[in-house]
Amino acid sequence: MLCCPLCFGDSWIEWKLRTEQNSIGFCNFCGAENQPLVEPSTLTAYFQILVDCFEESRLGMSLGHLLRADWGLFSRLSSTQRDGLLDSILGHDFHLRLFLPPDQDSAERVQQWDFFREELKHNNRFFPKNIPNQEDLQFSLFSLRIELLAGTF
Ligand SMILES: [Zn+2]
Repeated sequence: MLCCPLCFGDSWIEWKLRTEQNSIGFCNFCGAENQPLVEPSTLTAYFQILVDCFEESRLGMSLGHLLRADWGLFSRLSSTQRDGLLDSILGHDFHLRLFLPPDQDSAERVQQWDFFREELKHNNRFFPKNIPNQEDLQFSLFSLRIELLAGTF
């Protein structure tokens, strides 16, 4: 089973998959044609960092649900397709594990970055008002959020 950038809907993941593609063709998960394809395990290390930012809890929700609702990932996929892709990335039956969203401090830091990104995209590209403390200006939702949640800044 091979996946493609359209499965995820994130600019950093798209760039990552395009640079590491094995072939071009039909995506087994979202059904798109003529896409750069990779083994889902290409992304395992990155998603594992992400998983570590969430607290596992029987009172939580599936990571796939949280990532779609809060981050907008997997928006092209049905729940079944999304769960299958996450299992291929993170291991058999991963979709059965439940998680709580990251704590409030992390959420606020991520939100600050989101405001900044939106301002750059839509309002004042050259003189942003909401400059975050860090100087890293890499604008991928996925990588920024992982770095913020993991506290690597
Ligand atoms: Zn796909």
